[in-house]
Amino acid sequence: MLLKENEQRVVNVCQELVKVKSYSGEEEQVVERLKDIFNDLGFDNFHVDEYGNIVGCIKGNKPGKKILFDAHIDTVEVSDNSKWAVDPFGGEIIDGKIYGRGTSDMKGALSAMLCGVSNFAKRANKEFEGELYVAGVVHEECFEGVASRKINERVKPDYVVIGEASECNLKIGQRGRAEIVIETYGKAAHSANPQKGINAVYKASKLIDKIRNMEMNYDEELGQGILELVDIKSSPYPGASVVPDYCRITYDRRLLVSETKEEVLKPVLDLIEEMKNEDPEFNARAFYARGEEKCYTGEEISDERFFPAWKYSREDDFVKKCYSSLEEIGLNPIITYYSFCTNGSHYAGEAGIKTIGFGPSRENLAHTIDEYIEINELIKAAKGYEGICKALLKY
Ligand SMILES: [Zn+2]
Repeated sequence: MLLKENEQRVVNVCQELVKVKSYSGEEEQVVERLKDIFNDLGFDNFHVDEYGNIVGCIKGNKPGKKILFDAHIDTVEVSDNSKWAVDPFGGEIIDGKIYGRGTSDMKGALSAMLCGVSNFAKRANKEFEGELYVAGVVHEECFEGVASRKINERVKPDYVVIGEASECNLKIGQRGRAEIVIETYGKAAHSANPQKGINAVYKASKLIDKIRNMEMNYDEELGQGILELVDIKSSPYPGASVVPDYCRITYDRRLLVSETKEEVLKPVLDLIEEMKNEDPEFNARAFYARGEEKCYTGEEISDERFFPAWKYSREDDFVKKCYSSLEEIGLNPIITYYSFCTNGSHYAGEAGIKTIGFGPSRENLAHTIDEYIEINELIKAAKGYEGICKALLKY
């Protein structure tokens, strides 16, 4: 494959980033690498915040709107190198594809953003109104949108572009998600005399049945709201000859637009109250799981695991502008919605900032053995990001 200079650059950047391992909470080395890349690509400056996110900036000659391009720099781990046909941190190219952990999720997208934004600023000779930011965000894999809050606080963008894989289609929303924990409490007894105890698992199973019959909201575009049991644990464990006095159940809740923390938990709390009234031995509580993650900077991120949904209309002006800019460069994007949760949960869901998703590669390549990204996708995405800059900024 013979590539033009611009195209070769995005390939090189992607390979470089893939070679630096950056599991969640261990992104320091890749941030160091990104400092050099921001300099090489002509960014005006960069800033590393308390959580360790790095954000590079290019300002136009005149004031105007701010666009933030958001890509997470953490990756999921490689559990077994021997299962890979290639070195997961080699960035090797075979048949037009770059291989390695994080190529599709999402160092490829970050490379395309870096190059696309830099190309735009160079071609415009900085004669544009506004500011362009590219963010390498930490701790996305288990904590969507939380580290992004720090970036938003400082940059306060007018528009955000999420680079998660969309096969270069335009995404205008996603369901959110939350983790709900329910605990039931019983009374321990020897299992030879179970009538002397209260089995917390039997109490939980009644609740589980009722929760299964709960009706969830439905959204034409985003689909069904979901409340699905994902794990269950009893105590003592193992429980040889003991009636368990404790049971903990975790639910994954997929959220629709405008469902709030209070609204989502209320039907579960009401159900628990109702069951307490029916059965004096029934005792339970429900709450959101708390996430706690340590950043490589030493800072701790901690919050309830509730990441709101978001959705824009295809008739929205900024969506139309982005769409036509992608069409103009020969892409034929479909307008759809992400099926998974992204940092958009913060920007659009919590902060109400106009957000779209546009990224190279396929979402089902994320987290896989022999993860790769097609060079063609990478190049298309870089052109797409450049096009989005043109569409949203006056120059
Ligand atoms: Zn991702």
